[in-house]
Amino acid sequence: MEVTLVGTGTPLPDPNRAGPCTLVKAGENNGEHVLIDAGRGCVMRMPLAQTGPAFLSGLLITHLHSDHLTAFNDIVTTHWIATNEPTPLRVWGPVGLKHYVDHILLALGPDMKYRMDHHEDLNWEPVVEVTEVVPGDAFTIGSMSITCHETCHAPVEPTIGYRVESDGKVVALAGDTIPCDGLDSLTKDADVYVQTVIRDDIVKTIPIPRLQDILDYHSSVEQAGQVAAKNRVKTLMMTHYVPAPQPEQYPEWIAIAAKEFDGEIVMGDDLTSVTV
Ligand SMILES: [Zn+2]
Ligand SMILES: [Zn+2]
Repeated sequence: MEVTLVGTGTPLPDPNRAGPCTLVKAGENNGEHVLIDAGRGCVMRMPLAQTGPAFLSGLLITHLHSDHLTAFNDIVTTHWIATNEPTPLRVWGPVGLKHYVDHILLALGPDMKYRMDHHEDLNWEPVVEVTEVVPGDAFTIGSMSITCHETCHAPVEPTIGYRVESDGKVVALAGDTIPCDGLDSLTKDADVYVQTVIRDDIVKTIPIPRLQDILDYHSSVEQAGQVAAKNRVKTLMMTHYVPAPQPEQYPEWIAIAAKEFDGEIVMGDDLTSVTV
């Protein structure tokens, strides 16, 4: 499997980072492409990861925070106009996702009508198949067996982490969460563990109440290292960086996680990837 950080950003706009979005490729010739979350601008990054909305076998949503969903409508429309016959976009996510998708499709109504009126060969509306999942659910996408795990991002509920197994390898994808039992079951013995992180030591020094509020529901870099060590993962990939580091600061972030975890630690610009 190949895991690519398509977008490493956060709600804070950054010209160098798309919003949170991770791509997993698996199966024969890595031909199965699954996207986890759809942060701002991720569709723009996807061609650089040799994929695009029309190539997706599935889209998994961790939670309904807007920074993880900003590009959802872009994926729906780009998938629709790039396919030659009605082709479902298959989406999995927490309870509440159906309501979200119904309203996005409603908002896209005028655009669907304009395009269908204008393009004679485009005579179907976007087909979006939504499956709402709860912790303990399991499903498959091609060669990938996926299980759903509870993560902890209160008051944001529900939130889901996805454990993807293919060809004997395991990739654990957590969204925004603090350490909890569900995160342990998600990441246990994983080959790759992808975690959104914040630098709590830096955020604590910024006297902006709305930034202070993020401290209690995100993993710090240190906590990501602790969870990786506790659950014996092989590679920790960090993403969703607050505050956004300059590349020369990456070693400092990695050193903080490395105090807790002696496996491989990966972070970087958008499109950083690992293969297992
Ligand atoms: Zn969130
Ligand atoms: Zn977030």
